[in-house]
Amino acid sequence: MTTPLTTWVPGAAGSHFDVDNLPYGVFSRAGEEPRVGVRIGDLVLDLAPVAAAEMLDVHHVFEERTLNLVLDLAPVAAAEMLDVHHVFEERTLNALMAEGRAVRSSVRRWVTGLLTEEPERDLVEPHLVPLADVTLHLPVEVADYVDFYASEHHASNVGRIFRPDAEALLPNWKHLPVGYHGRAGTVVASGTPIVRPSGQRRVSTGSTTGAVTFGPSRRLDIEAELGFVVGVGSELGSPVAHDDFADHVFGLVGLNDWSARDIQAWEYVPLGPFLGKSFATSISHWVTPLEALDAAWVDLPGQDPEPLPYLAPTAARGLDIDVEVVVNGDVISRPPYRSMYWSPAQMLAHLTVNGASLRTGDLFASGTISGPEVDQRGSLLEIGWGDESAFLADGDEVTLRYSAPGTAGGRIALGEVTGRVEPARA
Ligand code: CA
Repeated sequence: MTTPLTTWVPGAAGSHFDVDNLPYGVFSRAGEEPRVGVRIGDLVLDLAPVAAAEMLDVHHVFEERTLNLVLDLAPVAAAEMLDVHHVFEERTLNALMAEGRAVRSSVRRWVTGLLTEEPERDLVEPHLVPLADVTLHLPVEVADYVDFYASEHHASNVGRIFRPDAEALLPNWKHLPVGYHGRAGTVVASGTPIVRPSGQRRVSTGSTTGAVTFGPSRRLDIEAELGFVVGVGSELGSPVAHDDFADHVFGLVGLNDWSARDIQAWEYVPLGPFLGKSFATSISHWVTPLEALDAAWVDLPGQDPEPLPYLAPTAARGLDIDVEVVVNGDVISRPPYRSMYWSPAQMLAHLTVNGASLRTGDLFASGTISGPEVDQRGSLLEIGWGDESAFLADGDEVTLRYSAPGTAGGRIALGEVTGRVEPARA
């Protein structure tokens, strides 16, 4: 194991945003256009001016610090960096993500060097901006959005609540990662207010089925999930192999799939989730690149029956990510992502096995993360077991926090996602 690098950035060493994390986001300062930044500690590194100074000005090549920098990079990586500096001036991460895995790694090595090599400090420090001085934006222009249902505990709990007289899991559930296509245009950044949706609902009480009514949802819920952001697309007609996951996926976001259970329960048969889900999906401002999660991969809990070969049953791996569900400041649940039945790479393989192509900015989510214990459930539906008083009231604020083992032996924080419920609009 190599010695962990130490950053010169004040306050960052030993924090959950040390140099083994370095998530990407899009930020702006008052009066300026949004552009790409990297979080270190409680600061944002403004990449565009640093890239311009270090990579474009050929005179710098003859200065000692830049020579060191260039020598630190493989020649190919350095050439790639010279080509891609413009991606840091964009309003989303899409252009950076589309450059692919090699550039993703090169940029990460470059940023790590900037933040750990003392000679870089004079040039870099003026471009570190306190988080308190910036506005953070939706980091990705979302192309397509798919939501899976990969937790056996969540799927079983929901089955028991919605279909108490039937098998908890439907016959297909352990053969394929069940999912549906959601609404990309209503994926919003953390902090965006969530307006209580209205719609049709019919509430059953006991053996009595109530009238069909219209109005604000009375069962507004959360779903604590992880989102996976696609950087590199694929060709229509060609499935993406399970083992090519890291060539296509750029990184991870925190994700809250807000759900109106009364609207959902009335509409979902036979074609699945629709208006009970599509009013809003919140994602974190920060996108954690895959490289930051190298130490977080773990074995899956176990798959029986063995999935078909395209789902790579012997190669599939899960992620050891801890989640906290915080409602109005109180931690009410701690779902463990390592308990998920289907792996992220299996979800991607299944999503494309019919030849459906990927695009830069595609987002696929894990489905609600629920563990086996009562205090590990990722939705209020499960936490309250259908009790109407468990759902969200106007003014409630929900925050999802995520952490994982970092590559330097400590822990890193993934992007948190938050939202406050606003009253329905007439
Ligand atoms: Ca969901």
